[in-house]
Amino acid sequence: IDWQEFDLNDVVRSAIHILHPEAQRRDVTVSSIASAQGLPVRADRVHVQQVILNLAINAMDAMLQAPTAERNLMFQTTMVERNEKVEVSISDTGSGIPSDKLSNIFDAFYTTKPTGTGLGLSIARVIIEIYGGKLWADNRPQGGAVFRFVLPLARPG
Ligand code: ADP
Ligand code: MG
Repeated sequence: IDWQEFDLNDVVRSAIHILHPEAQRRDVTVSSIASAQGLPVRADRVHVQQVILNLAINAMDAMLQAPTAERNLMFQTTMVERNEKVEVSISDTGSGIPSDKLSNIFDAFYTTKPTGTGLGLSIARVIIEIYGGKLWADNRPQGGAVFRFVLPLARPG
């Protein structure tokens, strides 16, 4: 593991940059709300970026399948838990997740895609847990899914 201290806002920004052409191809509108404060975390930056990319690709897959008018992929970063942790949320306007499957989706080899591996979320969760964080999923009241992960702040404020 290549431990570094970096700002989570920078990693989200670079993931969005990487995703941009694919989002355009899929007619997905990407938006983001970044916390005004810096969000220093200690982790391997490449691992965290992979997690964000995995969650975003899943979100875009879910929006391709769903017959929704709008395809919106939204990123948000905020401080949580009395400024001791940072949270990244990735929301979509896709199909959402059947409520009885909200925990199964993190099982290795669980997939609903014809050619899916079902490994993305299980690996993402392990990566986040290695760095002392948590990753979970919910459905949005307006429809679609939201994935959130928290990581400890490197320098709690
Ligand atoms: P894969 O993408 O190969 O199917 P993942 O582990 O990344 O494997 O995801 C597992 C399953 O979780 C997906 O097949 C899909 O059913 C569900 N899923 C993941 N992300 C979303 C999402 N944003 N909206 C709806 N379902 C999702
Ligand atoms: Mg996946």
